Amino acid sequence: MNINLKIEKTSVPKIKPDQNALSFGKYFTDHMFMMDYTEQFGWHNARVIPYGPLLMEPSAMTLHYGQTIFEGLKAYRADDGRILLFRPRKNFERLNASSERLCVPAIDCDFAVSALVELVKLDAGWIPDAPETSLYIRPFVFADEAGLGVRPSNSYKLLIILSPVGAYYPEGMNPVKIYVEDVYVRAARGGVGFTKAAGNYASGLIAQTKAKKMGFTQVLWLDGLERKYVEEVGTMNIFFKIDGEILTPPLLGSILPGVTRDSCLTLLRDWGMKVTERPIEIAEVFDAHEKGLLEEVFGSGTAAVISPVGGISMAGRDVVINNNETGDISRRLYDEIIGIQHGTRPDKFGWTLEVK
Ligand SMILES: *Cc1c(COP(=O)(O)O)cnc(C)c1O
Repeated sequence: MNINLKIEKTSVPKIKPDQNALSFGKYFTDHMFMMDYTEQFGWHNARVIPYGPLLMEPSAMTLHYGQTIFEGLKAYRADDGRILLFRPRKNFERLNASSERLCVPAIDCDFAVSALVELVKLDAGWIPDAPETSLYIRPFVFADEAGLGVRPSNSYKLLIILSPVGAYYPEGMNPVKIYVEDVYVRAARGGVGFTKAAGNYASGLIAQTKAKKMGFTQVLWLDGLERKYVEEVGTMNIFFKIDGEILTPPLLGSILPGVTRDSCLTLLRDWGMKVTERPIEIAEVFDAHEKGLLEEVFGSGTAAVISPVGGISMAGRDVVINNNETGDISRRLYDEIIGIQHGTRPDKFGWTLEVK
């Protein structure tokens, strides 16, 4: 594709952080991608420029009315030195789904993927190569028109910033304890639950803080209407293995359609397992546990890939799952997805895109 992308290299490259002390989202690379939208010109002025602060008007519309949406994906350094992206187009398609819901203009996904490839190529020296480390990629769009008044903004910016991140499980996979949130809700059907709208994360902070205070790692969200059905765990999709069958809630508008969720479903079906997407009552989960049929619970998302759940607590009732150990399915999915992402396992579904 003929992409019209200006590249301005930094004249002051930064000192790269120690690979063993990366954690998450703390360091940013030398460059970033930026593109503008105006009513008159549409999306234009695509450029890669030195990473640095933005100037904007205090009246920039997103600061008041929240038209900001984002994405999250990763680039991996394969064992043979290649750089791989994992299903990047899916993220830009989802960005457009978020955009549509928030009255933000869509971008050209092919162009966005090509621009991302150029950006990652330029900052390739920032991709860590220690086991299970990666370069986290954060595309986001926000409304930057100056002025107050609730209506869709007439101008926007799309940025992509890059952050080298450490292994999610430096000490091995450890099951997490989760708290079933029965007061606050994350989303309701008809709302913005299926989007990565910045405001969703602001509204979830209170439950996350409450759960942390009580000693839990994550919040298990119930549906917004009846507080009866399971939706997600923190910022991950959730899976249950009950009596040999793998269950996950269906995508009915309040749940984020995770790329990792989709990858898990595809792999599990490919492995010939019984997989069902259907509403799951929290009561059913506790019942299954009582009958000894709750075999495994895990979350899925780009950051951790798979996060096994070792305990669930609701209204003073605590259950321990699989002896608080990582289950077979969690382990197998984790190894397979990490393997594909790092190029050590066959990429049967054509999920990776080499940056070259
Ligand atoms: C990003 C996100 C997920 C996971 O999506 P992936 O594409 O797998 O990273 C799940 N739930 C919420 C609320 C999210 O924000």
